[in-house]
Amino acid sequence: MGGVAVRCVNVVQIYTTAGGHDVVALRGVDLDIRPGEEVALLGPSGSGKSTLLSLFGGVLRPSAGKVLVDGRDISRIREAELGRLRSGTVASLLQGAGRNLLPYASPEENVEFARRALGAAARRRLPGPAELLDRLGLGGLAGRPLAAMSGGERQRVAFASAISSGAGLLLADEPTSQLSHDDRDAMVELVHVVNREFGTTVVLVTHDPEVAARMPRSITIRNGRIGSEGRHGFDFGVVDEDGAVHIPDDLARRFPAGTLVQFEETADGVVLRPLDEQGERA
Ligand code: ADP
Ligand code: MG
Repeated sequence: MGGVAVRCVNVVQIYTTAGGHDVVALRGVDLDIRPGEEVALLGPSGSGKSTLLSLFGGVLRPSAGKVLVDGRDISRIREAELGRLRSGTVASLLQGAGRNLLPYASPEENVEFARRALGAAARRRLPGPAELLDRLGLGGLAGRPLAAMSGGERQRVAFASAISSGAGLLLADEPTSQLSHDDRDAMVELVHVVNREFGTTVVLVTHDPEVAARMPRSITIRNGRIGSEGRHGFDFGVVDEDGAVHIPDDLARRFPAGTLVQFEETADGVVLRPLDEQGERA
């Protein structure tokens, strides 16, 4: 099936509320996600995570900047091609997706239902429901109606259904938020299995640092911007197009907005030194 790339170039998203005022949800996001990468989006509520995911899924077009999915600029393509992108290239798993399945049908029947719009060529190319469930390690759920399953099991079937049409990009918004610890872990494992088996690019929104820590790359969104990136448990600042770097939260108290700083080069990096209250160099 194979994964697709996602790229953002200086993406700005502005919503106009019913009352007529503007809300800036994303204020200049630059981001490169390679085919087959697994990425967690972290950040406080209201920071813009779901907005970013909606842009990747072609549900929204950016107010400014570019979003490229599989090399195609979704702000430029026609409605029809956007529709194909939404149904073919991208799979979206929404919060509580397990509730949107057919309750009296089995997992196979649910996966088959999710594949109903596929053409004959795609059907031949893609694994069928039984094989897909097997390859995802969900064969044990076969035969039982969803109504008899736990929330976590239903969510795993929803996951299988979401990727059954061969999408190269899986977008999941808080897929573990209503699950127990064990179900959450099973879900994260399922993400890794899909990624290994099919090479699918995965972008997963979570507020759970433990989930994010199990993804090879995590991106923290703060107030509509990329705040920092984590790699294997270590957090890094990210330099943006304008040369700006977000100061980490734990240091921000020492560097309130407007602080004058000096950059002092050392042998192995740069020291950031604020002017003291008297305006003297430290
Ligand atoms: P997150 O998923 O990180 O909680 P969102 O992307 O949902 O954040 O929201 C980012 C900002 O945009 C918030 O201030 C939110 O209130 C605002 N917002 C989101 N959707 C809409 C909308 N449809 N209309 C107006 N404002 C919105
Ligand atoms: Mg959200």
